[in-house]
Amino acid sequence: MDNRRDKICGSLIGGAIGDALGYQIEFKQGVKEKEITTFQGGIGIISDDTQMTLFTANALLFRKTRIAMRGIAMLPVDAIYHSYLDWLDTQNHTNHHSSISWIKELKELNIPRAPGNTCISALSSGTKGTIEQPINHSKGCGGIMRVAPIGLFMNDSKIAGQFGAEASAITHGHPLGIIPAYVFSTLIWYLSRTDLTIKEALDKSMKQYEENFDIFDEEYKHYFIELVNQAIKLSEEHKNDIEAIRELGEGWVAEETFAIAIYSCLKYSNSFKDAIICSINHDGDSDSTGAVTGNIMGAYLGYEQIPVEYKNHVELKEEILELANDLASELPVGEYNEHNDEYWLSKYVYCKRDLSLK
Ligand SMILES: [Mg+2]
Repeated sequence: MDNRRDKICGSLIGGAIGDALGYQIEFKQGVKEKEITTFQGGIGIISDDTQMTLFTANALLFRKTRIAMRGIAMLPVDAIYHSYLDWLDTQNHTNHHSSISWIKELKELNIPRAPGNTCISALSSGTKGTIEQPINHSKGCGGIMRVAPIGLFMNDSKIAGQFGAEASAITHGHPLGIIPAYVFSTLIWYLSRTDLTIKEALDKSMKQYEENFDIFDEEYKHYFIELVNQAIKLSEEHKNDIEAIRELGEGWVAEETFAIAIYSCLKYSNSFKDAIICSINHDGDSDSTGAVTGNIMGAYLGYEQIPVEYKNHVELKEEILELANDLASELPVGEYNEHNDEYWLSKYVYCKRDLSLK
């Protein structure tokens, strides 16, 4: 597997593993250090974090294919919005007209897995939230936990950051719901495209944010930078992880989710397993802190470095890898291509996967 493909597969599977491990204790209190280290029951059941991440990936591939075939397509954030409406259908068992996602038919995605109220209500409103016209005042982590594919897919780090921010603003209008998504998708871009360490990639991402996305009131910027610096500092100390994480928050809001993930990834940067176990074992939003940590560690270490005990037993493994491989591929189709890949077209033009064409 080439390096970038390995990192893209690692990031998507890594996020699903962190989500599934954390989902087991999302609402549990009194969690002890290293209490959860395995998939209980043998299979890692993913939650809404991974579901929505996969819809983000599907939207990017749909849009890119549309451009290749027709020369024109909706904006990336509009494709992502339509894909999230597909996700809403899977949760409500409804069917809106302009469905764009082949993954909508997967039965594992048609089961509610503690979906976030903010995502459901914002998408049910019939209005797409934007940075300029906030849909609400929420900074819940539902906006950040689903944008990793944007960092994996875009060609430019600034575009990755911008679209990550726009994608989170679809459902979350507070500046602190949006800024962490900007930095997170930029960080994923750097880790999947370069050989930088996590700390180096984080520094570059924070710098890019300050230079290119300083659009909100100063108070939010200062608060966010301070929290990230605190996470860095804590990762260099020898504190008990649960106590350190408690100082950063519980991860229900986006900036805390990001800070807990940064703490876990910097403290255990050489071990996917140790970073994930650190990121989920606390009394907060364990599946989202696990998902974001898994996206980061997977993009940094790559798929090959993820323990088999996790990657071979996570729900939807084959489909997650299929989307990851599609994200990593040159398009096998196009307006002037005489040998268009029919299987690809079934997924990203007709939005109905036809396995007989595979
Ligand atoms: Mg969840």
